Amino acid sequence: MKEFLSNAGLYQIHKILENYTLGNEDYTGPYDFVGETFEYKCEYEDSLKTFEIELDKATLDYFGSQRGDQISSENFINEKLNYTFKAIGRCKSCNDYHVYFLLNVFSNNPISDIQDNINYINFRKQNTYKIANTDIFIQKVGAFPQIKIIPDKIVTKYFKRDTNGFYYKGLNALNQNFGIGAFAYFRRIIEKELINIITDIKSLPDSHSAEIEKLLIKHNENPQISTIYDNIFEHLPNSLKVLGDNPIKLLYNQTSEGLHSLTEEECLEKANSILQLLNFVIKKINEERSEIKILRETIKGLK
Ligand SMILES: [Zn+2]
Repeated sequence: MKEFLSNAGLYQIHKILENYTLGNEDYTGPYDFVGETFEYKCEYEDSLKTFEIELDKATLDYFGSQRGDQISSENFINEKLNYTFKAIGRCKSCNDYHVYFLLNVFSNNPISDIQDNINYINFRKQNTYKIANTDIFIQKVGAFPQIKIIPDKIVTKYFKRDTNGFYYKGLNALNQNFGIGAFAYFRRIIEKELINIITDIKSLPDSHSAEIEKLLIKHNENPQISTIYDNIFEHLPNSLKVLGDNPIKLLYNQTSEGLHSLTEEECLEKANSILQLLNFVIKKINEERSEIKILRETIKGLK
């Protein structure tokens, strides 16, 4: 939930509750969100602060200001949980700066007919009435101020000007929910930079440089049938192995799938994943490089 409130862009669907039970009413009405906290940028203090969700009077009047015995019928559409409300996120530090999210909460299966037809209070006490395969999801369908993904300085410092052009355009597309556009730009970055990234990884102290060099030579002989993305994992420095998955291969795989087979939403999701993975890899390279720099300075001092 914190992660969702802090980082999700518009229309990114997150699961907030798995295996809905009638006794467990979490997130079945706006009131359940009051008091949730998350990290967000306070524009008054120009830094990341803890924000807390509150509701305005109109929302409380409409949806109710406390939990009832039953979920209000206003919170359902076609028997499925489906309600949308304005949440105010207020900075707890200055208690002044605030943002608005329009949040849509929904279930994948009907739950209201079951609620109406059973002895609800009993089930609530037992807390065990599970509705099979029913989860609750949330998405931001509006936000003010506009949600913006801000370029990461470490990444823009790492890339040269032409790649940064794609990076900025990709971020702009993401900020406006242009999934296909964002995905196309981030793919272009991978196609252009992945081998350069591997070359930089090669020179990190903790990686198997000689083995990576062999893979690079083989790759350059025939880039079309390259195996470098599959085989590099065991030679990566530990910092790039922590995901358990091969980040280089994951990035490469994004360029091999046809754009035409994906929906706008799938592209949006993939573009977001690429962005996070790319940021991760470049930050790790940067961290290890600065570590070398510090070590070199230390050694100089010892001489
Ligand atoms: Zn503040």
